[in-house]
Amino acid sequence: MQLYQSNPIKIYNSLTGKKEAFKPINEGYIGMYVCGPTVYSNVHLGNVRTFMSFDMVFRYLKHLGYKVRYVRNITDAGHLENDADVGEDKITKKARLEQIEPMEVVQRYTVDFHNILNTLNFLPPSIEPTATGHIIEQIELISKIIENGFAYEINGSVYFDVHKFNETHEYGKLSKRKLEDLIHNTRTLDGQSDKKNPQDFALWKKAEPQHIMRWPSPWSDGFPGWHLECTAMSTKYLGEQFDIHGGGMDLKFPHHECEIAQNEAAKGKSPVNYWMHANMLELNGKRMSKTTGNTINPDELLSGNNTIFSKAYSPSVIRFFNAQSSYRSILDLTDDGLLASEKGFYRLMDAVNLLEDLKESTISSIDVSAWRQKCYDAMNDDFNSPILIAHLFEAAKYINQIKEGSETISSEDLKLLKETINAFVYDVLGLKNTAKIDSGTDKLSGAVDVLIKLRQEARINKNFALSDKIRDELAAVGIQLKDGKDGTTFSVN
Ligand SMILES: [Zn+2]
Repeated sequence: MQLYQSNPIKIYNSLTGKKEAFKPINEGYIGMYVCGPTVYSNVHLGNVRTFMSFDMVFRYLKHLGYKVRYVRNITDAGHLENDADVGEDKITKKARLEQIEPMEVVQRYTVDFHNILNTLNFLPPSIEPTATGHIIEQIELISKIIENGFAYEINGSVYFDVHKFNETHEYGKLSKRKLEDLIHNTRTLDGQSDKKNPQDFALWKKAEPQHIMRWPSPWSDGFPGWHLECTAMSTKYLGEQFDIHGGGMDLKFPHHECEIAQNEAAKGKSPVNYWMHANMLELNGKRMSKTTGNTINPDELLSGNNTIFSKAYSPSVIRFFNAQSSYRSILDLTDDGLLASEKGFYRLMDAVNLLEDLKESTISSIDVSAWRQKCYDAMNDDFNSPILIAHLFEAAKYINQIKEGSETISSEDLKLLKETINAFVYDVLGLKNTAKIDSGTDKLSGAVDVLIKLRQEARINKNFALSDKIRDELAAVGIQLKDGKDGTTFSVN
């Protein structure tokens, strides 16, 4: 018997706007696709929040005993900034700026993306396909859409015919938009004369002579439209219809709307049974944006090298902070919020660390089984992690009371309590037990300061082998040294 058999889950489906009982297409198996990053710059913290929420979903589904195939793509082909953009794509633009190969940009930021996710204790997806590795599949899909009469070629580019599609299908059903309103709200722009209608979107774009990333196709040397890659890769690995498609709220329109249209146009089937959208991350109550400067990189948040926050925050504290809000709520990143999460996280971990020293009694004064079921009920209700955490704090209170002798626990219940806490804290929330290192902060700081001084001496003596060894071995136990203009500081991960 698998856990999922006694734990039916409900998922808020963006397509219907309702919380629905989840039923996978094949019992015991789940296919889940999440739109991955575009690797032309450092991964945005807002995207990290989305991926972190789906990492938790993936972890919980696995914990329930489902066999999950989780596909998260890498957008490395470069997509247009908007459909009016006839020139370079973002990856090519960045490459020109930095005088390097586009694939070098892709490699650098893919590595950066993986490093950040590893630091934050993400589970790797089952498959991480790249857009450039699936050009043939995308070309086949375009041919099929043309064949079915829902796309047209003009001057080497191919566009999806939204108006034609809407005659027999419902364009806008995910984002709850009507084509008439879209027409009403679109200004006709110059330079869009290739398209029959401004609402049409590119499936294939003919490459301008200066465009570096290009592939041969029946229509021109060019490159695929961005929306197409997710349709090609999701259905290749999960089937023409699959269980869950996730992504950030901002992708609902046009990206996910176009994915539905492409699949229906090519295969005659709506591809996804449950659409899940993670809400936005704000910074100090405002939208994160590079142009206004209200932004922070994941790296800066983790290292404390920033002017926004009072200190560095460990990966587990960041994960805990994220899980304290529902994935469907806007999350506001603030110093006060992070400090409160940090305090809560260590309070919880201090209790977890007491578990090994608890004295067993003949009977329990608390109902551990009922408490355990409440934890599952919270997660079964559309992955309601803030409620789960409230129950974990309730357990922390019990643990302290048992320790003090005001409550008792039987050996059987203690085993169940440990098992449940370990499952939710480590497997589902993906936290790491760093409480012991961090709670002895003063002594730890003193010890690391000694090592920092020894490392400085080693560097003055040009003994770089030793100075690197000190840095690397500290990193191996989760202590990162950071060299800045005011000397060396450290953070504990
Ligand atoms: Zn996508």
